[in-house]
Amino acid sequence: MKSLALRAHKQRIELACHVATEVPAFVVGDPARVRQLLVNLVGNALKFTEQGEVVVDVRVRSRDDGQAVLHFSVRDTGIGIPDDKQASVFQAFEQVDGSLTRRHGGSGLGLAISTRLVEQMGGRMWLESRVGQGSIFHFEARFGVVEVEPDEIRRVDLSSLHDLKVLVVDDNDTNRLILQEMLASWGMLPTVASRAREGLHMMREALREHRPFRLVLSDTHMPEMDGFMLAEQIGKDPKIGQTAIILLTSGDRPEDMERCEQSGIAAYLLKPVKQSELFDAIVEALEITHEGETAEALMSHHPKLTTPRRILLAEDSVVNQKLAVALLERFGHKVTVANNGREATEAAASDAFDVVLMDIQMPEMDGLEATAKIRAREKTVGRHIPIIAMTAHALKGDRELCLAAGMDDYVSKPIRREELFEKLARLVPDVSPVSVEEEVHGETSNKESAAREGVIDWTQIRDLTGGDSELLKSLIADGLEEASRLLKEIRDSIAKDDREHLRTAAHTLKGSVRYFGADKLFEIIVRLEALARQGNPDEIAEVQRSLENELDVVISLLQSRLKEMS
Ligand code: ADP
Repeated sequence: MKSLALRAHKQRIELACHVATEVPAFVVGDPARVRQLLVNLVGNALKFTEQGEVVVDVRVRSRDDGQAVLHFSVRDTGIGIPDDKQASVFQAFEQVDGSLTRRHGGSGLGLAISTRLVEQMGGRMWLESRVGQGSIFHFEARFGVVEVEPDEIRRVDLSSLHDLKVLVVDDNDTNRLILQEMLASWGMLPTVASRAREGLHMMREALREHRPFRLVLSDTHMPEMDGFMLAEQIGKDPKIGQTAIILLTSGDRPEDMERCEQSGIAAYLLKPVKQSELFDAIVEALEITHEGETAEALMSHHPKLTTPRRILLAEDSVVNQKLAVALLERFGHKVTVANNGREATEAAASDAFDVVLMDIQMPEMDGLEATAKIRAREKTVGRHIPIIAMTAHALKGDRELCLAAGMDDYVSKPIRREELFEKLARLVPDVSPVSVEEEVHGETSNKESAAREGVIDWTQIRDLTGGDSELLKSLIADGLEEASRLLKEIRDSIAKDDREHLRTAAHTLKGSVRYFGADKLFEIIVRLEALARQGNPDEIAEVQRSLENELDVVISLLQSRLKEMS
């Protein structure tokens, strides 16, 4: 929805998404199919709508033992489809109006494919439409239901949000309804205004009645007075100036982000907002922290160490070295880096390692040759160190080649942590195959591993910058500069045990890290920030180590991206 929203907002169409509260937080199904369906339908809706809005809605149609049929609808305010054409649009190569197609492009296949996808998910698809008024495409599909606590949402005590007065300002009716429903579902007391001026008036009235709003949630682009002007007005008025403000932006205007930062806005979110995102932003904006509880919850995410192992990493690429080192050290392992095969054989001769991770292509001596050398030497001393190959291209013969050279197993690059730990566990005793971190999380989460694989979420950044590469460059450059400055501040304040300074430096760093979708780094900083409040020096030192490692990885990735672009 976020990426489609960008396109929608460029067309000045509001794209909203409403997921009814009764829809389970987690379902089991095929995300790729659902995604494709929504992209097809929302894509069509945007294609055939000149003005107005496109609204995606999800509800529960029925629920029975362990399964739910979800009803999705995509409604637009576009040109509509005449009655006599409504049945045929689902057939392949059918288009209502050929001349329109020349304008809009398209293959006439989208809906035929969509219908098939829906049928594969045990559902059906249909439409309602009136020419000149718009269309609603519906589909239903069957999903498994898992009874999992949405821990992200429940972690914070909801009672602190109860009866919290929130003002919602948005000129779009659908958005107001959606936001109102979300807020009410957390027990907050939302009041809505469709214009900024009206919102300001309500704020002053509420203050007069001694029931002020604690939070304003406002759209950015509104007629007459936009979200920034509203924030400015609020800030200028000493009586209401303290109210926290969260802006909803459409992401099609990169300069918005900067303006948000400058005008002291607590947070800005890209539309359409995800419920969990909004929740996090509210908690953060209001600085709701249950000191003890939160820190403890956060600490429980800290991986318990399996038996620390001594690992020799033979790898010539610095980024890959850093990635692998960060990954392994996070689980308490000690890593020694060899930059090529020759260094690897020399290091291995010390017998100081429990396992070797060996890149295949390396300068001076490649991984296959190094392995053969290590094995030859072992014949004379009678031991066998496990060697795991790391190969970039999982070509068919690679495995045989590796095994023939005396390796025990191989992992493909880029390294995925589950695969690596699984292989390590198989060859080295006491390395747990599933990280404890994941067990605590209660999710063998795709999101986590995907985030790891990428470390940085480039899609998010692209969305944020709207494809503006100059902006991206300066964002990265600023990020790098800021990160090194703040890292220094963090080091200094830890050395002096200046907790307040540590906390503010961590907080600032957290803000800029968020841009880059560097989830792991973000988590570490959150932990550090919490520890600054009440952790002991040992804990802080430990988190500092993870921070330095992970920041190294992120920084080197950003630097290489910057290089690629210039
Ligand atoms: P195409 O790739 O040509 O868009 P589809 O199968 O997705 O093929 O759609 C078939 C035809 O159905 C479109 O060409 C258009 O005439 C009509 N159509 C689909 N969605 C809409 C909509 N939301 N509003 C109006 N017409 C639509």
